[in-house]
Amino acid sequence: MPGEDERAREAVSDQTRFRAANDRLRRIVPGYGFKGGDRAPFICECGDPGCFEAVMLSLEEYDRVRANPSWFVLVAGHEDHEATYERVVEAERGYATVEKIGFAAAEAARLG
Ligand SMILES: [Zn+2]
Repeated sequence: MPGEDERAREAVSDQTRFRAANDRLRRIVPGYGFKGGDRAPFICECGDPGCFEAVMLSLEEYDRVRANPSWFVLVAGHEDHEATYERVVEAERGYATVEKIGFAAAEAARLG
């Protein structure tokens, strides 16, 4: 039975891979005509390795999430309310933002 730190480390490691993919998307979507307020499809960063759902948010919203290295963006409903290493920041805009806390926040920043 892995400890809580180990679970947090694995989740953050998966999530930072999705974050890296989203950062690449963020760089290329303006070339497809998306502007700041336009919603573009990003990849859900919920950390479920089998989840490849699209989460729609504007480039401005994406930049706001990305400004914080311990924040991740999820399809609404993909939050893990059992997890003790993250908390939901907001979930009212059609997507959810979660914040890593404690050890997981440090790990997210290290991998960022
Ligand atoms: Zn997901």
